[in-house]
Parts: sequence; structure tokens; C-alpha cells
Amino acid sequence: MMMIRINLYLLVITLLSGCSMPSKIIENGTAKSKKVTKIEKVEKTEKVVVLEKPVLHLEKVFVPAKGPVWKKTLSQTKVVSKFCKKIDRKFHHWGWGKSRCKNIKWNNVRTSHLGDPLIWTVYGDESTQKENPKDMTLILCGVHGDEITPIKFCFDIIHHLEKISKGHLPGFEELKGKLVAVAPIVTPDSFFKRRPTRTNARGVDVNRNFPTRDWKKSALKLWKKRYRKDKRRYPGKKSLSEQETIFQVNLIKRYIPTKIISVHAPLTIIDYDGPEFHDHKSTNSIQSMIAPNAKQLLVQMSKKANGYRIKNYPFFPGSLGNYAGNERKIPTYTLELPTADNRKHKKYWSRFKDAIHSAILHDMHKDIEVAKVIKEKKSKVSTN
Ligand SMILES: [Zn+2]
Repeated sequence: MMMIRINLYLLVITLLSGCSMPSKIIENGTAKSKKVTKIEKVEKTEKVVVLEKPVLHLEKVFVPAKGPVWKKTLSQTKVVSKFCKKIDRKFHHWGWGKSRCKNIKWNNVRTSHLGDPLIWTVYGDESTQKENPKDMTLILCGVHGDEITPIKFCFDIIHHLEKISKGHLPGFEELKGKLVAVAPIVTPDSFFKRRPTRTNARGVDVNRNFPTRDWKKSALKLWKKRYRKDKRRYPGKKSLSEQETIFQVNLIKRYIPTKIISVHAPLTIIDYDGPEFHDHKSTNSIQSMIAPNAKQLLVQMSKKANGYRIKNYPFFPGSLGNYAGNERKIPTYTLELPTADNRKHKKYWSRFKDAIHSAILHDMHKDIEVAKVIKEKKSKVSTN
């Protein structure tokens, strides 16, 4: 209403005087203020609106921090430092530019079968996570070493988070209350092979080795019958037999994630495992809150990536989707990039950047309008 009034007023003044505009536009970098001063003389008795107070239009303008993002080389353990050099060489080989590995603060507890460190980095304060858990996102890449674009993708996520946390990109305030952990190369032994493989150095498919309840009964049986002993899908002699599986299970136990994003290639879908959306009437209050939230995020991620296809891919004995999503009810999103083509890395990051950014900031426990989500479920966007 006020805007209409001002415009009317400006129109009248322009018509009457034909001279310079009496209104002032003050710009101070963060807020725009339109001030309309009182008019002393009005010759015609037209409708003139006189406003005493300025109308404020507050718009936050992001001012990026000055100086370089990567200020110093961090001191790393010997094993991590050596590993970073190895990563740099691979980045050069695949034409990916700088990994910035030596500028990133890595955590490392265990090593792979061939001795490479299993590394991850954390954004946010994890010291109170056990007593007072925050919204937490766990991002995993390189579970299958031959899917190489996801590995570069995780480094892109890390670079993005570094830029936000150093004030070079907007989102610092929103990120403050979050906890994010990124493990960019879960299975290094396969990634660093001259010809990368899906399975790890011991020939195990790490995404079939999680200790799910159906593992003993079905994992090997399914592998023998349905997959005819396909070497690429060998689940191991027993569950949790691999360092890379223990690594992921421990990350889940340590951080209690509210959502997990595991990046693979090349199925060109987003798959979801976790609390089911039709459980919204569930008596379990946490589940009834998480399910619509998880659904909302799934649809949102798809939309932000130009309508990326959502597909309900089945989970398997020993898979992460089964272990975390199905059994532990942690919303687990498997983002399958379109290819493992090393040349497409920039294209993938630009397509999925917003989806990842919004996923990290999406609060899984916030109270949302459930009715809206259920309505959406009936529409075509739902999983099929
Ligand atoms: Zn995969």
C-alpha cells in the first residue's frame, strides 16, 4: 500500500513540477532507504500523499572477506602429508586442478589394507555432539574407487565449506549451528590403482559389507545366486571385515548424523533410504517428524539440480542404505552422478552445488507443515 502511495505521489510531483525529484535514495551498502520529504507548496488540489517517515527496504548484501581463502599449509601427520602428495598427483593426472589437500584439516584414525590413511574433515563444533546433538550431515565419496567423479565432487564440497567458513561465500551464519563431516576417499586402495576398481584391495565391495541384520542369512547367498559370483559385488567372508566399512560405521557412531549423503556414479538418480514417508502418522514422534522432512529435502535436492531424477533403488544386504537408512532410520541419500568421466567434474559441481548446499543447511528436526508434504507425495514428484 505504501509503495503505491509513494508511486502515486511521485507521479503527481513529476506531473506538477517537471523538475528534479524530491525523493532521496540513500544507499549505505546494506540497506536502501527511500525518503520522501514534505512538500511545502502544491499548486493544484490533486491527491498528494505526504510521508514523514522514511520507508526502509532492508536487503542483506553479502560482502565477501578479503584475502586468499587458502592462507597456510597445515601441519599434517607424516602419513597424511604423504597421502596429500599422492592425491595431488592424481588430481593432476585427471586434470582436476589443485586439491588443496595440504590446506585442509584432516582427521585420521585407521588406514586401508595397503596403508593409506582413511581421512575425513569436520566443519562445526563436535565437542558437544554426544550430549547435545546438532543437525549433522555426513558426506561420503569414493566408496567405489572406480567412480572417480564423486571423489573430486567431495573435494569441491570441502572447498565450498572452506569458502563459507572463511567468509568468502554467504552462509556463515547458517552453517554455524551445523556439523558437517566429509570423507572424500573412503576406499583409497581402489582409487589409486592404475586402473581403479569398484572393490577394495581385498576384493570386497565395501557397500555390501555393512553389518546389516540380513547379512548372515542373505549376503553371500544373493551374491552367489543373483549375481553369479560377480567379483565386483563380493560382500566379503563376513560383515564388517573391511577397514573401509569399519571407518564408515565409526563415523556414523561418532557423529550421530541426521542425514547421510553418499555420492556414487553413474546411475543419474537420487535414491533415498530411511524413515518412510507414509509413516507420518507413526506413534514414534521422531520418525513422524523426520519422514516429511526427509521427503522435503529429497524433492528440494532434485529441484535444485534441475529436476534430477528421484528413484527408489532397492537396498541390499550389507549396503549403507540398509544399515543407516533402513535399520537406523537415518535419512540416507545416494546421489548417483551421471558418469565417472573425469572431464565432467566442473559440470557436476555446478549442477549439484545448490542441492548439496541446501542439504547441509536443511534442519532434519525442524517442524514443517506436514500437510503440504503429504499433498506433494500424491503428486508426480514422489518416488517411484
Ligand atoms: Zn557406487
